[in-house]
Amino acid sequence: MAHKFYETVQKNFDKAAALTDHPKGLLLQIRECNSVYQMRFPVKIGNHYEVIEAYRVQHSQHRQPTKGGIRYSEMVDQKEVMALASLMTYKCAIVDVPFGGAKGGVKINPRKYNVDQLQNITRRYTVELIKKGFIGPSVDVPAPDYGTGPREMAWILDTYLTFSRGEIDAVGCVTGKPVNQNGIRGRTEATGRGVYYGVREAVSQKDDMAKIGLEPGMAGKRIVVQGFGNVGSYSAQISQEEGDALIVGIAEYDGTIYNPAGINIDKLLKFRKKTGSIVGFPGTEILNDKNDWVGLDCDILIPAALENQITVENAHKIKARIIAEAANGPITAGAEEILIKKGVIIIPDMYLNAGGVTVSYFEWLKNLSHMRFGRMEKRFNENTYGKIIKTVERLTDRSVTDRERRVITRGAEEIDLVRSGLEETMITAFHSIRDIHKRRKKVQDLRSAAFICALNKVASDYIALGVFP
Ligand code: NAD
Repeated sequence: MAHKFYETVQKNFDKAAALTDHPKGLLLQIRECNSVYQMRFPVKIGNHYEVIEAYRVQHSQHRQPTKGGIRYSEMVDQKEVMALASLMTYKCAIVDVPFGGAKGGVKINPRKYNVDQLQNITRRYTVELIKKGFIGPSVDVPAPDYGTGPREMAWILDTYLTFSRGEIDAVGCVTGKPVNQNGIRGRTEATGRGVYYGVREAVSQKDDMAKIGLEPGMAGKRIVVQGFGNVGSYSAQISQEEGDALIVGIAEYDGTIYNPAGINIDKLLKFRKKTGSIVGFPGTEILNDKNDWVGLDCDILIPAALENQITVENAHKIKARIIAEAANGPITAGAEEILIKKGVIIIPDMYLNAGGVTVSYFEWLKNLSHMRFGRMEKRFNENTYGKIIKTVERLTDRSVTDRERRVITRGAEEIDLVRSGLEETMITAFHSIRDIHKRRKKVQDLRSAAFICALNKVASDYIALGVFP
């Protein structure tokens, strides 16, 4: 299957590349992965040794460092990591994050190991990366992906610090770290929040919505989410709380729950924390076949689990008018053809889930500057706003209430700046893609437009850099 994922990425690349006039050789250079590091290392598990298979792939070094998450999954193989690394190059280009693309993968099921064993695997993997120069704040900077999170990033950081005495920017060697370990506020929610901003922007386009028979606006849109992990749960929660969307279905490993009147995501998260599952959440129905999430009645389907979920076998069941790719590669190339014919709008992964790498970029900048965002200007701004209010009060002979004063004079904290930077990034990138789609008749879908947007930026870098020697 992972083989299919890489093929899909390459096929989609070729489809879009044919619509550009970049030289063939240049396109080939962009398309291929530059460095593939496959490794095997032993880890002591209980009283025996296990040999672990793992990867780090750097797809393109046109900008450095390269950047991309680390995945822990039994399905990891070389082709899967290559596909994900390739997407990272395009993703960074689309959202103007000045990094090349990379990705890491460790072929394990993290549920089968205890915390100490996971720590040993993570630390040993990091050492392998250090030994071959595949990690460092100016070389290659990992982040979380499927099966990993801030905890693993803290172990990677600590291992890197152990081997990098005197390197002043060492904490920038990995992003997605816990906030108290040089992380940034808003990183954990970033991919899901980016999904929300991207979908909100897409459904705000009156002409696009008219074409698919939907009212513009996020409020009341019926959403189904597959995968209730980091990306899926934040996408659902923020769409509900800030966008007034109706989350009607959630699909997970152990079952798919459905309620056409809407599921309260906050309560569902608490319920799962207590019971360990989403199944049995009061007020919801359980589907007989958990894989039937694909055909649930909704306006927007958000696959947020893994690749190759919507295939030629199930694409005809889809009722949604919009598929928002929060996961990487959830739609196979064959399924995409069917969906485009059905007139479904696909908001592509390489744009839609770029919120994670965008905030990772902010975290890396914070690490290099050794200071949190907002520290220098927050009080200054608050004092200035206070003076403006006083002047307005003097000129008008009227005064604002204490509550109004507090709201108006509030200076931005780190979390406000991160969210604002992310919102700006997602909106700007959406329009750069949509403009290509609208302007060029031959560009028939948003994915091709996103690819063209990325290709033009990466190609101009390669042209400017020239070929060495
Ligand atoms: P995660 O491990 O936090 O969550 C994934 C969830 O999907 C898990 O709860 C898992 O049980 C569920 N799942 C797996 N297979 C499923 C299936 N067949 N049906 C239903 N549920 C299933 O992972 P994540 O970080 O949320 O990543 C999800 C996707 O988003 C991946 O494709 C990843 O590459 C992509 N992504 C993640 C980030 C990030 O910042 N974490 C950034 C960009 C893209």
